[in-house]
Amino acid sequence: MSNPHHTEDNSLAGKVQKHTGVKVSRCYQCGKCSAGCPVSSDMDFPPSLLIRKLQTGFPKHEEEVLRSKSIWFCLTCEMCIARCPMEVDIPPMIDYLRGESMRLNKANPAAKNIIRFHKAFLNSIQKTGRLYEMGLIVDYKSRSLNMVQDVVLAPSMFAKGKLKILPELIKDRKNIKQIFQKTLKNKHK
Ligand code: SF4
Ligand code: SF4
Repeated sequence: MSNPHHTEDNSLAGKVQKHTGVKVSRCYQCGKCSAGCPVSSDMDFPPSLLIRKLQTGFPKHEEEVLRSKSIWFCLTCEMCIARCPMEVDIPPMIDYLRGESMRLNKANPAAKNIIRFHKAFLNSIQKTGRLYEMGLIVDYKSRSLNMVQDVVLAPSMFAKGKLKILPELIKDRKNIKQIFQKTLKNKHK
């Protein structure tokens, strides 16, 4: 039976918690994550400030988070979680925020090539079950219309066996398809 006193937390912080299990309320703003983050100086808000904005729950702050460059500049290096005394797991939180930012058409224009790479990467995993570098490069280049950049590197990469012409497919691609379908379904809940 449903609990009549239960009210769903529709704030962005509430959605982060529901979808990733990350509780931003645990953060007490010590700043260790921002101090250790290798790209915080390129971000518009360092990770601790992203969290602070989520904690306030103000729509203006949530909007700033979803439109920020920070969520796209994150390298998922996990330095922040390694340093955090409260175990606030920032990388999955940022991953969720990226999805929301794209879904709501709020992605920062400065991140457009990062987003193209992100889509090409997921496309490769969805189709082959693993990273197919050649397909990823062609997909990314066609999305970014930047066909000639780095092309001189290709021959030496072929020679060293770093690039394969044909993809290696995993056996159980049906499972990968189901994971993508399930994730897309959950995202729209
Ligand atoms: S995972 Fe992202 S936010 Fe955390 S330290 Fe690395 S780049 Fe910074
Ligand atoms: S290290 Fe953890 S507690 Fe400290 S500011 Fe970052 S998220 Fe908050």
